[in-house]
Amino acid sequence: MALIVQKFGGTSVGTPDRIRAVAERIVATHTAGNDCVAVVSAMGDVTDDLLALAAAINADPPEREMDMLLATGEQVTIALLAMAIHALGHEAISFTGAQVGIVTDAGHTKARIQEVRAECVKDALADGRIVIVAGFQGRTPEGQITTLGRGGSDTTAVAIAAGISADICEIYTDVDGVFTADPRVVPDARKIDLISYDEMLEMAATGARVLQLRSVEFGRNHGVAIHVRSSFNDHPGTIVKEADASMEQAIISGVTHDTSEAKITIRDVPDQPGVAAQVFSALAEANCNVDMIVQNVSEEGATDISFTIPKEDLARAKRTVEAMVEHLGARAWSVDESIAKVSLVGAGMKTHPGVAAQMFNALAEADVNIHMISTSSIRVSCVVSGGQAEKAVRALHASFGLAEDEIVAEAAPAARGGN
Ligand code: ADP
Ligand code: ASP
Ligand code: MG
Repeated sequence: MALIVQKFGGTSVGTPDRIRAVAERIVATHTAGNDCVAVVSAMGDVTDDLLALAAAINADPPEREMDMLLATGEQVTIALLAMAIHALGHEAISFTGAQVGIVTDAGHTKARIQEVRAECVKDALADGRIVIVAGFQGRTPEGQITTLGRGGSDTTAVAIAAGISADICEIYTDVDGVFTADPRVVPDARKIDLISYDEMLEMAATGARVLQLRSVEFGRNHGVAIHVRSSFNDHPGTIVKEADASMEQAIISGVTHDTSEAKITIRDVPDQPGVAAQVFSALAEANCNVDMIVQNVSEEGATDISFTIPKEDLARAKRTVEAMVEHLGARAWSVDESIAKVSLVGAGMKTHPGVAAQMFNALAEADVNIHMISTSSIRVSCVVSGGQAEKAVRALHASFGLAEDEIVAEAAPAARGGN
């Protein structure tokens, strides 16, 4: 007997028939002798619809009220799924994030989990019930409802798995696992059988939205094995766990892309110590998640600073930058909302020089211009025009031979490391 957390995403619970199919899968796992906790998302496009409703009322709504609104989506699904399980003759009980004791900070719309109490989950399991938990939501210590950012149900599932020491956290979704690129963009993308937390962190951080970044952080920090798999078949999916000798020693694991960021440029900022500190401290105070930063070579005592941020932070960032431009006496600022970040991820690039060069060549051959570049030891990212993202992903996937069944194993480590 095992203790299993199963998470079902929006498409997997998008219609009454699909909720019934999910109920049957959970009941089958329970009947096989396992203890089951199911974490569910809002049905289909409900979260997008709620966001659109809010936008129709107020272009910059108070974040506390956004959370009051968004948390309703998941609450519908938990009740319906519990009803579907009862209709199959089994005992199930549903809980909201607040009821379960998912305690978060007060960062409304992207709150971070601080603690998972889960007493009621353990009690209900001990009574032999199937437990159903609303994903994506929690509450502050003071009792305010919060949400965990887009894709946050993944994080609820992994956090609960950690909180009750589950044997495995299964993430059921609308693709067969984690692929070498988004299978909707690259039709011959290959399913990855095993991937390390570190590589999955970089893939999630750079746009492979199949797992929310924080769910992978949680999994790594608490040693939760994650199995990403399809809710429409029984094929084995992708296991995310600590790196070990059984994993493919691929140089490149995958290509990701992310069109959710915008680029802001501040022109002719005084080139003096402390200026960057002021700009980015103000953005941090406004709860804006800055990603890539580029500062140009200074000319005549002034320089240009460009950075990227999630579009959802744009309203706050614009207000902050406008005030900063005035405060610092910069010349002007502009926003480009049509950008994409395209990234190559792979632990093998640490010891395999030339990856970045091959990436830039492949983009050049595809006639894709690079606006910004950033690297980590296992990732190279380029900002390109939004309209060229898919072309860039396909070109990189082909250039690095990621579709091939037999991946080229990493050659003997080179003397010099780096991208
Ligand atoms: P869910 O509603 O189940 O949480 P999401 O839409 O959040 O599903 O995530 C699944 C989607 O992630 C897939 O439909 C796929 O288009 C996209 N995706 C992006 N990159 C990848 C990747 N590398 N591997 C698998 N899926 C990916
Ligand atoms: N319903 C939320 C979203 O669409 C959370 C999730 O599905 O994980 O982002
Ligand atoms: Mg998701």
